[in-house]
Amino acid sequence: MVRFGVGVCAQLGPVVEELGPSAVLLVADANVRELHPPPLDAPVVPIPPGERWKSLESWRGLLDRFVEHGLDRDALVVAYGGGVVCDLAGFAAASYLRGVRWIAVPTTLLAQVDAAHGGKTGVDHPAAKNLVGAFHPPVEVLVDPGFLSTLPERELSSGLAEVVKHGVIGAPSLLERVGVEEPGGFVEQAARVKLSIVARDPKEQGERRLLNLGHTLGHAVEHASGFALHHGEAVAVGLRAACRIAERHCGFEQRALVEQALDRCGLPATAAVEQDAVLQALGHDKKRAAGRLRWVLPRALGDVHVFDDVPDSLVDEAVADACGEAAG
Ligand code: ADP
Ligand code: ZN
Repeated sequence: MVRFGVGVCAQLGPVVEELGPSAVLLVADANVRELHPPPLDAPVVPIPPGERWKSLESWRGLLDRFVEHGLDRDALVVAYGGGVVCDLAGFAAASYLRGVRWIAVPTTLLAQVDAAHGGKTGVDHPAAKNLVGAFHPPVEVLVDPGFLSTLPERELSSGLAEVVKHGVIGAPSLLERVGVEEPGGFVEQAARVKLSIVARDPKEQGERRLLNLGHTLGHAVEHASGFALHHGEAVAVGLRAACRIAERHCGFEQRALVEQALDRCGLPATAAVEQDAVLQALGHDKKRAAGRLRWVLPRALGDVHVFDDVPDSLVDEAVADACGEAAG
């Protein structure tokens, strides 16, 4: 079950009690734990902030903590932090004893509208981000926009990129709300776009692929930047590229609205990365089907499809634009 609302985090105690676990272990982002002490009387495993802690080593360390605390099949893990902590703690819960229950308490905008939902858990491998993981949905997700009051500006705007993505996929009014209203007001609307798609296609065999809008080029740019760009910033560049390609390839007419929304959120138009590095990273994208890149593109706002027939010339132009260089 997913609960939304300012103050909903205070329900953590009763929600846990209702589940009647044999033991509870809280896995908490070290910053968040200081800023927002968890309203739960349970042992805490702190995770240092940063994507580099979403690693196989941290996962192994968490399993050791689970063993030390004597967690059994009826135990409960609570993830308390952003996407990093949710992915890491969720994956430890997925793999320990072939799966113990977990609750997600996402504290970044990105995690509240995206990462905490849909059951994808995992860690990075030196060869690639999110290379190791499992589908293991949390039994409860408590989405409390109250956490966002302390979120650094750059984290907030990164999360807004995923909100814009969800707007294009299935809630066009979000495009008018981002950068104008406080995010707390539209977190639920943005998250529900993902929740309804994931409910219909939990294992990403079809419709769920649409959630990769902006991520084909986004991941390539993120990788080519050596992860200097935040995920959401790279996704913003990827979204702009998808809209440009869609304009030429499938008659998308609302590119300006998307660009304006991203601009209002302070999200970048281009990335200072080498075109060649992006093209190379694109080749390694796992969204390739039978040698052709798959692009998720909007025909219109709220009408998004997967295409595998985008001409190379359009891709080359989009990459040139994304890298801030004139298209040839
Ligand atoms: P994401 O959700 O984008 O994957 P992370 O989990 O890496 O992000 O968290 C990004 C940064 O934000 C980390 O430094 C983390 O400690 C910090 N953070 C997370 N939630 C909050 C919050 N509510 N207030 C302040 N900082 C937070
Ligand atoms: Zn994303």
